[in-house]
Amino acid sequence: MDNSKLGNYLLFLNVIQEKINKFFYDQRAYIFCKRGCSKCCRQSQFPYTEIEFRLLMEGMRTLNQTDLTQVLENIDKVIKAKEEHFKNSPDNKFEYDCPFLINDGCSVYPYRGLICRCFGLMSCNPEGDNKLKIPFCAYEGLNYSNVLDKETDSMSKEKFEALGFENEPKAFNAGYGSLIDKEFARGFDFEFGEVKPLIEWFEKFGKPEKRDDY
Ligand code: SF4
Ligand code: SF4
Repeated sequence: MDNSKLGNYLLFLNVIQEKINKFFYDQRAYIFCKRGCSKCCRQSQFPYTEIEFRLLMEGMRTLNQTDLTQVLENIDKVIKAKEEHFKNSPDNKFEYDCPFLINDGCSVYPYRGLICRCFGLMSCNPEGDNKLKIPFCAYEGLNYSNVLDKETDSMSKEKFEALGFENEPKAFNAGYGSLIDKEFARGFDFEFGEVKPLIEWFEKFGKPEKRDDY
């Protein structure tokens, strides 16, 4: 794999991560993420661009042998489950637990993709449908559940006012589509490349069998 632009991607990531951190801080009254909660790493597709996948592979190099073995087994299981899934229901999308999830924690946390960094925030994509996207865990008593109006699928002004918080519940103004904007990347002299569900990158490049294979 060509990793020559990874450094440029990391510079971009520093800028984006700072924005994401500030946004999480602003919204902290509505955020109930805690260690051991891994619902957002399960039963999803996990879109990754090629450069995000390359950084994830750098993270894979840092795993100890036990965790590496576990992740490789998880990848195998997901690929097999995907084959079965499409044999039985070819028209339905395939969702899976992330293979990097070990004991309810991310084994490659500093190397995770952009989608993982925004899990749990409300978002809207001004360059897409501009629709408010409420995190699924709001409906399970977690993020934003304290201001969620389930009947209207929106934030309740009454609940916000009753709680007396300073900052209103707000959407991060960038869905995944705008985070991987080509022009933004060009400014940092790298390209995101194609987007695929995480597991498909392993199908494309093959699963590393040992540390030196990637
Ligand atoms: S890479 Fe880490 S944070 Fe992202 S889905 Fe997988 S386990 Fe979760
Ligand atoms: S985003 Fe939701 S599901 Fe994910 S860790 Fe936070 S509270 Fe848990």
